[in-house]
Amino acid sequence: MSGPVLDETRRILGDLIGFPTVSADGNLALIAYASAALDAIGAHTRTTLDASGTKANLFATIGPDTDGGIVLSGHTDVVPADGEWTGDPFVAHEEGGRIYGRGACDMKGFIACALAMAPAFAATRLERPVHFAFTYDEEVGCFGARALVEALREWSVKPSTCVIGEPTGMRIIEGHKGCYEYTTAFTGSAGHASEPDRGVNAIAYAGRFLARLAETGEALKGRAPAKSPFVPPWTTLQAGVIRGGTARNVIPDHCEVEWEMRPVTAADADFALSEIRRCLEGELSPEMRARHPGAGIVTHVVGEVDGLEPVAPSEALDLVRELTGGNAADVVSFGTEAGLYQKAGISTVVCGPGFIEQAHRPDEYVSLDQLDLCLQMLDRLAGKLSRRS
Ligand SMILES: [Zn+2]
Repeated sequence: MSGPVLDETRRILGDLIGFPTVSADGNLALIAYASAALDAIGAHTRTTLDASGTKANLFATIGPDTDGGIVLSGHTDVVPADGEWTGDPFVAHEEGGRIYGRGACDMKGFIACALAMAPAFAATRLERPVHFAFTYDEEVGCFGARALVEALREWSVKPSTCVIGEPTGMRIIEGHKGCYEYTTAFTGSAGHASEPDRGVNAIAYAGRFLARLAETGEALKGRAPAKSPFVPPWTTLQAGVIRGGTARNVIPDHCEVEWEMRPVTAADADFALSEIRRCLEGELSPEMRARHPGAGIVTHVVGEVDGLEPVAPSEALDLVRELTGGNAADVVSFGTEAGLYQKAGISTVVCGPGFIEQAHRPDEYVSLDQLDLCLQMLDRLAGKLSRRS
């Protein structure tokens, strides 16, 4: 790519890194900055606010007001700047062909490329619209994208394709597992261990739940899709933490299990959750309550990030293959917002500048080479969408 657009990307990325958009602290200043830039070139911008009023999604459209647009999607939030940094994590610093700062690759680099290319899109007579989707709270459970997909439905905006610019080294990623996380709390009734039948042993009930989790996990192995690219190829389900009880001779009235599932298909997630619901709500909970009215089970949803299922044919895959010249399509082990778009009927792949190895750690960076490759992809997109007249 020619210097001026790369220089512009560099300048914008510096500005974006300067907004300390750690998920918990909100992103309004960054959203106002991006909105102003897109408004100035005539984009149609809309925002949605979260319940706290401190976080917003920005959705901007350039081109005709029609269905079938391409969404360029990036999350604006970053993880906290923990650990030992060489410089200030929220002041961009360029050295040796790299730009350092929190969010440089995850994923303000992609957002900077999109914003730097926005004037080129605006100057092109587009056949189909290009949308910019900049979201909040990706790092803590994809809550922004969930709200945005809902808003798209309300606005009757129907894009056909979405590219999530998470750092993949500009490789095309067509799939990742979902990640569903839960904490299930068992409340029993205490008593002396010498008379177990007079209390309700919360640990014993949690144990029966764990046995069901293991059984369901085994059943999931038999459901692996024939050509699943994942390792392992099936949906996994397991408990990672258990807490409960106070002493050997006391019937425990509390036990908590933290467990997770990584589904390879939405059908697997439904299957496993219905098995678990049958166990908890259909069997264990009624039995506990029959023994003590105050006993019972509550499951808290920590997060439910949908997976991205590789599908064929895929408009997004064909498009990004054409734009990048890359033929391979891989899967990755980290989660993204892609599954939410796919669930909404939008063909989606993940492809963006920088490498996940540099994300979520001190001295995060993105290289100018990677930004340049991303700009080339976006430049070809503008060319492809331009109306021949
Ligand atoms: Zn990310």
